[in-house]
Amino acid sequence: MTVSSTLHGIGVSTGIVIAKALNKKSEALSIPERTITPDEIDSELSRLDNAMSKARTQLEKLKGELSQKAASHSDIIDFQLMMLDDEELLESIHTKLRQKLCCVENAVSLAIDQASSVLLDQDDDYMKERASDIMDVGHRILKNLLGMDDANTDTDDDPQRVILVADDLTPTETAHLDTQKFAAFITSSGSRTSHTAILARALGIPAIVAVQEGIDSISDGDTLALDIAAGSIIINPDDDTIISCLKRDERQKMLMAQLVSESRQPTETQDGYQTSLVANVELPSEALNVRKKFNVGIGLFRTEFLFIDKGRYLSEEEQFDAYKSTAQSAYPFSVIFRTLDIGGDKFISQVPTPHEVNPFMGTRAIRFSLGKPELFKTQLRAILRASAYGKVRMMFPMVSTAEELEIALGYLKEVKEELASKHIPFNDDLDVGCMIEVPSAALLAERLVKYVDFFSIGTNDLVQYSLAVDRANPSIAYLYQPAHPAVLRQIRHVVDTAFANGKWVSVCGEMAGETLYTPLLLGMGIHELSMSPMALASVHKLIRNIKMYEAEDLVSKALACKNGAEVEELCREYLKRVCKELISE
Ligand code: PEP
Ligand code: MG
Repeated sequence: MTVSSTLHGIGVSTGIVIAKALNKKSEALSIPERTITPDEIDSELSRLDNAMSKARTQLEKLKGELSQKAASHSDIIDFQLMMLDDEELLESIHTKLRQKLCCVENAVSLAIDQASSVLLDQDDDYMKERASDIMDVGHRILKNLLGMDDANTDTDDDPQRVILVADDLTPTETAHLDTQKFAAFITSSGSRTSHTAILARALGIPAIVAVQEGIDSISDGDTLALDIAAGSIIINPDDDTIISCLKRDERQKMLMAQLVSESRQPTETQDGYQTSLVANVELPSEALNVRKKFNVGIGLFRTEFLFIDKGRYLSEEEQFDAYKSTAQSAYPFSVIFRTLDIGGDKFISQVPTPHEVNPFMGTRAIRFSLGKPELFKTQLRAILRASAYGKVRMMFPMVSTAEELEIALGYLKEVKEELASKHIPFNDDLDVGCMIEVPSAALLAERLVKYVDFFSIGTNDLVQYSLAVDRANPSIAYLYQPAHPAVLRQIRHVVDTAFANGKWVSVCGEMAGETLYTPLLLGMGIHELSMSPMALASVHKLIRNIKMYEAEDLVSKALACKNGAEVEELCREYLKRVCKELISE
């Protein structure tokens, strides 16, 4: 057994998974090089027919399964179904078989390589993604020809579930992963916003993506211990480590079950101060889960994921359907739709975007939307129309000047007038908010507050723009300090300004879901915390253990600290004192 070592990536969901590794690379197909005689052509073509119709049945079944589990993703399969009917691809396979007199496996493999390399050569991410779909469909046809079943059967002899290790998984592979056989997967590629991560989250498959170093050192049969939330992978842990992981898993599950069962009690500090907890989501289907499990609404719906997922702009009707079903699922709670936050590290694959040297400081979010008024108005129309079906609010991301708000609100007024003139129902009074993610917006909050009903502080960006620290750059992660006094001062100023003007403030960055910072945010007077659903139960528990006057005292001390590390130490001490079980090991 090899000595244990630890790798790191980005965790998708929570929990501890311990199982043997199965490298996807070991599934490479061996394509026979067999030549055929001219009179074998017909029988080879009929084998092709059978393999293709089997592939069609498999994909239809997969599409059906996927539309039940994650409806908005089932069209990922459509492109592959279309490929099976593609005349050009079929013609190419036939030609190769007839001209080279090679077996049909060989002809399929050559035709798929040719079709995918044409797409891979193009300087366009969308085309590159389609190349992986073509390879995916080719792989399926070849497996059918070779009499192999889907990837999942590789473990049929082994009753134990395994962890799939791969450079990448296509969305269809992710959708098709049989959770009876695969306990989790890890990939070297991917990001929080990748198709695969979105699908894994939506389907509840534990996964760690973006494992940039060391994944090649994992061999088939190695034991892996994954701490999903932490994104850590221990290869071949010793017995003591396994026992401690299992105990931690057990404790986490018990704590979570207890916290979830308590989460219907009022979100109230020990001295009676009430606050509101809501969830951040990316998919309409999550709204229903969040309401059923935690009885809360949606404080941030990142609408761009609908577009990223489809790889294109969505029509007004498509958006309306998604927003309406989210609003209905969240009811009687409210949902805040954030208009598109495209740019930075989020792009829509089929929509060409000009190259920018510094995309996080470039045409991102509201700047992107204001540059495309028709698309922006389409989104506003869809959100407004959905507001007739639930409690809908909306907000604009990355506002850095009052002029941007004025222009955005001008478009909103225009769209409202247009809907009213056509007698299309919408809520004329829906709350409109401004995200505070840029220091200029925080510092000039008194200028912005007049235009809106609420502020929502996006600390993920506010921290990176305030401290000039790229939020995704691991080499300067030590400088990324959400509780830095420079950030806290801005939050304090935004809350005071909103309060003085009778408006409310939410925090929807990751900071809102980290129990370490909950007392600080509460102590500064934040009215609403919006977080990843998996953080809701812990934050709720902590709030019920806090005394508001202690939280306010903590804020005074924190504002006097010299850096974020000092503030964190203060917060850790406080957390240890009031709710020790929430301190992570
Ligand atoms: C934020 O910046 O804190 C935020 C919520 O927006 P996003 O993470 O989508 O940039
Ligand atoms: Mg942001």
